[in-house]
Amino acid sequence: MKYRFMRFPQGKTKAVTFSYDDACRQDLRTAKVLDEYSMKGTFNVNSGSIAETPGEWHLTEEEIRENILDKGHEVAVHGLWHKAPGLLRPIEGIQDALNCRIDLENRFGRIIRGMAYPDSGILCMLHTTSYEKVKTYLQDLEIAYARTLGHDNNQFELPEDWYQWKPTAHHDNSEILKWAKEFVELDVESQYCASRRVKLFYVWGHSFEFDGKNNWEHLNELCEVLAHKDDTWYATNMEIYEYVTAYESLVFSADGSRVYNPTLFEIWFDDDKTLYSIKPGETLSLVGK
Ligand SMILES: [Zn+2]
Repeated sequence: MKYRFMRFPQGKTKAVTFSYDDACRQDLRTAKVLDEYSMKGTFNVNSGSIAETPGEWHLTEEEIRENILDKGHEVAVHGLWHKAPGLLRPIEGIQDALNCRIDLENRFGRIIRGMAYPDSGILCMLHTTSYEKVKTYLQDLEIAYARTLGHDNNQFELPEDWYQWKPTAHHDNSEILKWAKEFVELDVESQYCASRRVKLFYVWGHSFEFDGKNNWEHLNELCEVLAHKDDTWYATNMEIYEYVTAYESLVFSADGSRVYNPTLFEIWFDDDKTLYSIKPGETLSLVGK
């Protein structure tokens, strides 16, 4: 065995996800475009600003439920009052994240544990806190992941640190269509044996920016490039997190010849160019071990 690599559901080698912030009115249009292309996104909601009546700048609870959650998209924490953790004392950061989480869970009747850092997030860090402190309290608050910003590139890698999940690019990055085409053309299985890792294309932004620049066609153009590919899984941030962490929970025998799946997910992996899937509770023997 040279290498074993995770594969996404149905053995797919790539995934695409979106992340849009602030629950602004324009998120309705973004969610609709994603629906049209059978794509999934995560919408990050600063719950203290949820509107009381339709037509305001922010969406109402009902609009979020009907147009985002009921369509299979994710709602994630974005701070009760949208405060950057790097600019707060830890106790203030804890309150903003925890109160948002509790509020969203009560409003929508589900467990919500994804997050996108509000405002400057962890990019600007005052001496009252540190990244290590923020990560530690988010773990204690049982937030599973937190999206940060910057570092746009065409590496298409999964995050090394779930509390610094860096998107591939903002939708207005001048290279994004070029990178999307590179991503679509990338044939993971034909790469050098050590490079056959799954790839992720992760787009983020604010839906109101499409109105501001009057460039909604840009979103359609991007989706047109990325959508309907047989080798690609279209998922929310949390679906990707849960699948990857389930894969990491697989239990192998010491010599690597047997594998047990203790999770509730069917999990796919490539073991030296043989594709396996292992069902929940199943133990498999691997060929040639
Ligand atoms: Zn925001």
